[in-house]
Amino acid sequence: MSHKLYKNLIGGEWVAAKTGKTFLNSSPANKNDVVGEFQSSGADDVDAAVKAAAEAFKTWRLVPAPKRAEILYRAGHLLEQRKEQYAKDMTREMGKVLAETRGDVQEAIDTAYYMAGEGRRLFGQTTPSELPNKFAMSVRMPVGVCGMIAPWNFPMAIPSWKLFPALVCGNTCVIKPAEDTPLSTFNLVQTLIDAGLPKGVVNIVTGFGPEAGAPLVEHPGVHAVSFTGSSEVGRLVGQVAAANFKPCSLEMGGKNAMIVLDDANLDLALDGAVWGAFGTTGQRCTATSRIILHKSIAAEFTEKLVARAKALKVGDGLDESVEMGPQVNEQQIETSTKYCEVAQQEGAKLLCGGKRLTEGAYANGTFFAPTVFSEVKPEMRIAQEEVFGPVVSLIECSSFDEALEIANSIKYGLSTALYSRNVNNAYRAIRDLEAGITYINAPTIGAEVHLPFGGVKQTGNGHREGGTGALDFYTTWKSVYVDYSDKLQRAQID
Ligand code: ADP
Repeated sequence: MSHKLYKNLIGGEWVAAKTGKTFLNSSPANKNDVVGEFQSSGADDVDAAVKAAAEAFKTWRLVPAPKRAEILYRAGHLLEQRKEQYAKDMTREMGKVLAETRGDVQEAIDTAYYMAGEGRRLFGQTTPSELPNKFAMSVRMPVGVCGMIAPWNFPMAIPSWKLFPALVCGNTCVIKPAEDTPLSTFNLVQTLIDAGLPKGVVNIVTGFGPEAGAPLVEHPGVHAVSFTGSSEVGRLVGQVAAANFKPCSLEMGGKNAMIVLDDANLDLALDGAVWGAFGTTGQRCTATSRIILHKSIAAEFTEKLVARAKALKVGDGLDESVEMGPQVNEQQIETSTKYCEVAQQEGAKLLCGGKRLTEGAYANGTFFAPTVFSEVKPEMRIAQEEVFGPVVSLIECSSFDEALEIANSIKYGLSTALYSRNVNNAYRAIRDLEAGITYINAPTIGAEVHLPFGGVKQTGNGHREGGTGALDFYTTWKSVYVDYSDKLQRAQID
């Protein structure tokens, strides 16, 4: 089957990479299904894109924010119309089931409308001056050219979290999508173009991390960097940005715990566990990867969870009856396989799954069986390190205090969940779980776009996407003093 060739978007033109190289994007459900051919870009391509974004910034920053927002409203509306097609494209290139890719596009629609509303807010502050006949206010200014590096697990939602707030704030952008899922970024940006986005305001450079991502972070013309991905790469990105004093938002790993106490609604917790652990094939930074069970309900919960995991229908996400799609690529399969071996060497007990699925319809894809480990100890690697696959660890505890201690005993701090019907426990969890997100009686996944998204400890570097935190990242404050006294007035002195 012939496939389409996609070029970089630079200054409003579709152009081939100067490297002369391309790569194929194929479906994780069937490697013979080629989704498209994309440019394998290098530093020269990034340089051209950054220059185009700098040129576009000269005029885009002067467009009134409510007018910029109108483009986002239109884009949101167009995304609603295109939702089904874009969801299918996304399932094809990324693997997760259609219900979830529809949700991913919906997240971009929600972000479009939410950030469009900001076009008529973008509030600063007015405040009295300490001097007479003097006016003081703070206003949000765009940062300039923003470099964005996206992962593959939310191929449209995450680019929308980065692009839409940046645009409404008056910035111009160069985005490098993940090499596994570039098509969804093209769909998103094509929608912006159709909604009236001027040339050069968003530029796309596709390619691999070291060749196309690193030069974007390093480029002196990039004024802020937003990265979502692994902690290893995030550390590199952060170091390069810091050396150049660039604002840099890092959103990285998690090892998210769900606590189930003896007073929980067990069936509800079970539904949450299956969705949190195996939704998106466990490939969410907020995936439930540790379930901390009170010993009095552990046996019953474990038995039911294993039955549910075994019953999950795994397959091509384009089939509406499938509940869990493939992992995104061979590398993720290797990681899941490795951690299943490590867990058993450490003494964890494999209850189901633990291996790649290769028979029949699975033969040409990267499928992994839903996996549950019991008898996991909090200090084991399977309980400490991010797997990013359909692998969940069960850890027993004797008390709520112990559960909190176990939940917090990791280097990450993204999402957490507590299942309990005791309101006192709920408020203690909200206060004491070391995480950017805590759910009560809901699984660790399910963020809404108007709340801050991000984590503490080694999950991030203090920034938040979503919510007003995104505006804080994509603007810089200017304090303005207007003296209408017609004389020199000296602050702190007169
Ligand atoms: P994952 O393991 O989930 O693929 P990565 O951190 O490897 O996460 O990738 C996230 C994004 O970072 C991708 O777009 C990838 O191309 C990019 N990337 C990888 N290496 C680098 C690098 N050295 N510099 C900048 N970006 C990179």
